[in-house]
Amino acid sequence: MEQKTTLMPAAKRVALIAHDNRKDLLLDWCQTHLQHLHGHTLFATGTTGRVLEKALGISVNKLISGPLGGDQQIGAMVTERQIDVMIFFWDPFEPMPHDPDVKALLRVAAVWNIPVACSRASADFLITSPFMQQEYEYQIPDYDAYLASRGF
Ligand code: PGA
Repeated sequence: MEQKTTLMPAAKRVALIAHDNRKDLLLDWCQTHLQHLHGHTLFATGTTGRVLEKALGISVNKLISGPLGGDQQIGAMVTERQIDVMIFFWDPFEPMPHDPDVKALLRVAAVWNIPVACSRASADFLITSPFMQQEYEYQIPDYDAYLASRGF
């Protein structure tokens, strides 16, 4: 697939998703990094968003609950370039029945080349990166060029 260069804004749109056994971990991580999250716009699947808003008093744009399609709403936002960064604490001890959703979301994040963290340590690295505070130039798929190169 042909690629094109684009700019990620300085203020990021951050997706937060945690499976039930990982919600406490995400809550604790968000509390630790409140100052790093400040200035970014937060999105979350339904229950994750409610947990974070209630415990931390922060404002989160809540989608539908993950098992009801919220993961796929986030995936659609990634394809529409409305999500810049994803913190996705999926549960490695209970992969079923989440597996298809995890795979779909990680796939679309890889296609659109957005930074993703699935563990606390990787989330620590990601959120403290200088790129979180500045515009970031990166590559995304160029579907028009792809079609043109094939004569469509
Ligand atoms: P939830 O969804 O935040 O609504 O619990 C997360 C998930 O299970 O994908």
